[in-house]
Amino acid sequence: MENKIIDGKAIAAELKKEIAQEVAQIIDKNQKAPHLAAVLVGNDPASKTYVSSKEKACKAVGITSSVYQLSENTTEKELIDVIQFLNNDDEIDGFIVQLPLPKHINPDRVIETIHPAKDVDGFTPTNVGRMQLGMPCYVPATPFGIVELLKRSNVEVEGKHVVVLGRSNIVGTPISILLSRKAEGANATVTLCHSRSNDLISFTKQADILIAAIGQKEFVKADMVKKGVVIIDVGIHRVADSSNEKGYKIVGDVDYEPVSKMASKITPVPGGVGPMTIVSLLYNTLLASKKAIYK
Ligand code: NDP
Repeated sequence: MENKIIDGKAIAAELKKEIAQEVAQIIDKNQKAPHLAAVLVGNDPASKTYVSSKEKACKAVGITSSVYQLSENTTEKELIDVIQFLNNDDEIDGFIVQLPLPKHINPDRVIETIHPAKDVDGFTPTNVGRMQLGMPCYVPATPFGIVELLKRSNVEVEGKHVVVLGRSNIVGTPISILLSRKAEGANATVTLCHSRSNDLISFTKQADILIAAIGQKEFVKADMVKKGVVIIDVGIHRVADSSNEKGYKIVGDVDYEPVSKMASKITPVPGGVGPMTIVSLLYNTLLASKKAIYK
């Protein structure tokens, strides 16, 4: 039972260690440590938590981090001015604009302003286009994490039928592009399902690898999958749980216990995809500081 679990915490720790070693080598050569900046607009508590965990993660691997905290009523123009400043600041290797933004700001216009060479979230049209074309790019965090989890758990992807549930721009669509590319660790046959797909079960039952990213609590049931399937559960949902001292627990898009009996490998929630997400950002920041994607 144990070895069927894809341990995201352990894999993230391994990747972090590799990043920390590389950062240490850079510093040993008297070069500047990689520097990640985060722009945070407003006081959304979840966003604040994400940004502070990104800062902590940077510190743990020797990456310098800074936070540009802007008020809730910052105008789009003021935010874009900050982005232009960061685009031109040689001290900053990469930066992210924490989403969601307040409603009066258009996120597409803001993201388009980020220089692609500093877009370590991989959200700009240039990086998305380069990913689609199979060119070097910053891969967005969650899809990057999924690819690493599969690779480091020795899951064969080539020639397999991967069924992705969900077509969001940050998870479903990019992972479907990455795994169908003509590239090492990819070459899968990918079916991308969404809320308008008819007869979803007919697809999920065919999946050799099922990636659930639909944002519906415990949606994938045991009778929807075939025996031996590899399950990657991206979903994160907080549900009330009086047996837990916090009063809640975290579950995914997959009904874990029964589905794990069908699966040959499965990511738990928490402790699967989640821990990989921040590490991916550290990895992209390291790439940015080495000018590995954009020379
Ligand atoms: P979105 O809400 O942006 O997208 C959900 C997708 O699922 C849409 O494409 C939607 O279809 C599709 N969908 C919704 N309901 C159904 C259904 N019943 N049947 C088939 N398709 C359906 O979600 P995200 O991609 O942002 O996130 C998905 C989940 O992953 C969430 O629980 C989120 O919290 C979690 N998440 C976890 C991360 C991590 O680090 N572990 C990182 C990012 C997200 P349509 O396009 O037709 O509307």
